[in-house]
Amino acid sequence: MKYEIPKKMIGMKLPGGAKVQKVEQPVPVPGPGQVLLKMKAASLCGSDLKYIYYEHTDKTGGARYDDVIAGHEPSGQVVQVGEDVLDFKEGDRVVVYHIQGCGYCDECKKGFFINCQNPERRAYGWQRDGALAEYMVADVSTCIHLPDFLTYEDGAMIACGFGTAYQGLLRANVSGRDRVLVMGLGPVGQAALILAKAMGAETIGVDISEERLEMAKKIGADQVLLGDDDVVQKVMEYTDGKGVEVAVDCSGSSIGRHRCLEVARMWGNVVFLGEQGTVTFEPSPLLLHKNLTLHGSWVTSVGNMERLVEFLDRKKIHPSQIITHRYPLSRTEEAYRVFATGKTGKVCVNMEMED
Ligand SMILES: [Zn+2]
Ligand SMILES: [Zn+2]
Repeated sequence: MKYEIPKKMIGMKLPGGAKVQKVEQPVPVPGPGQVLLKMKAASLCGSDLKYIYYEHTDKTGGARYDDVIAGHEPSGQVVQVGEDVLDFKEGDRVVVYHIQGCGYCDECKKGFFINCQNPERRAYGWQRDGALAEYMVADVSTCIHLPDFLTYEDGAMIACGFGTAYQGLLRANVSGRDRVLVMGLGPVGQAALILAKAMGAETIGVDISEERLEMAKKIGADQVLLGDDDVVQKVMEYTDGKGVEVAVDCSGSSIGRHRCLEVARMWGNVVFLGEQGTVTFEPSPLLLHKNLTLHGSWVTSVGNMERLVEFLDRKKIHPSQIITHRYPLSRTEEAYRVFATGKTGKVCVNMEMED
């Protein structure tokens, strides 16, 4: 099947100052080992806001943004195939793991392109053109086939947030034996609740926002608790004074992290997924004497993302259930503005929507 490809396309950049800049540029041509994707869905991420939207924080030592088309949660359809591509063909539906690494370092060989330290490392929407456009060139080493059951919006959810949540749960070896408490119910927290439940665990969601607790109930959390001063005590009561087997912090706040250590039971696992901020705690009562394992976890690997896609397909779960707002590409500016209020669930740009 041959697709008609125009010469020019629309894309969205984030120049800073809470602006979205619409650009017109030539449709890129896929090189060897690459495919051209017609973009179908691209979701917005908290990291876009933290590091690019307001200001480019690379100036202060954060992640680098190279004046490229934004968007690192891409899902689309292959419309043109470069040389030496055997595993993807025109018409294939894909999710894109959002970072390309050097390919030869230890971490890249494990599929953890996120951890690559070499200068060849390029993330879509950060150092190379990303998802918020009509077309995007992707390296096939970062492409994952999307099964028919999963929509393009599902794909966009998987590309970053669900992948990150899945990896955190893998680190804690979550199973049906566990009660998993998720602290902070933004999109990654919601993803963690959905996936932990699908892995057979009993789930508890904690947040300071009533709206988010409502959402957590809707996606099937077994228990939701308001993150007030009594929340630790409430968790202890709920677990017969023992605490939970796994606590996952998605809040990134010092109090959220501290509470995760407090509510974890003896020999439990605590995973820190929420970015930024700090935490201070007394290691003796909270970590050593409880024999806790504390994991830091960042994004996931291409291989684990592939297994996640398979898992979601098998369990018949649509990650797009956490989307609360969707916009066509032409309204990306509004999408960011609404997302920046902090009052939404996941916000997704859907290229198949009418203007
Ligand atoms: Zn993201
Ligand atoms: Zn590498």
